[in-house]
Amino acid sequence: MTRDIEWSHSVMVSIAVPYGWRAFSIPFSEVERFKLDQIGVAAQLLDMPREDYVRWVEQEGSVQCMATTKQGKRCRIGSQRGMRKTEWMALDREGFLCHVHGGGSASQS
Ligand SMILES: [Zn+2]
Repeated sequence: MTRDIEWSHSVMVSIAVPYGWRAFSIPFSEVERFKLDQIGVAAQLLDMPREDYVRWVEQEGSVQCMATTKQGKRCRIGSQRGMRKTEWMALDREGFLCHVHGGGSASQS
């Protein structure tokens, strides 16, 4: 076997994360799939459900308040940004309320 083939065992790819990109190495066999579905592969690399991954990146690692405003719209206030995926997923599951909608956080005093 040639050296080229050994070198192509894995490939470095960049995937989107809040505030930037993270480099991952993926097996060469996954490259085609990565080209077709970057989000799917990225979510898998980070071990997150696809929908969660998309929202985590789009919202820059912040969770949007789950309350509805008086106008019947989803409250746009978000939690702190840049949360790590595990924190983010925990808060997303639990449901985040901003200070306007009764959530108490760092600004309780
Ligand atoms: Zn709110």
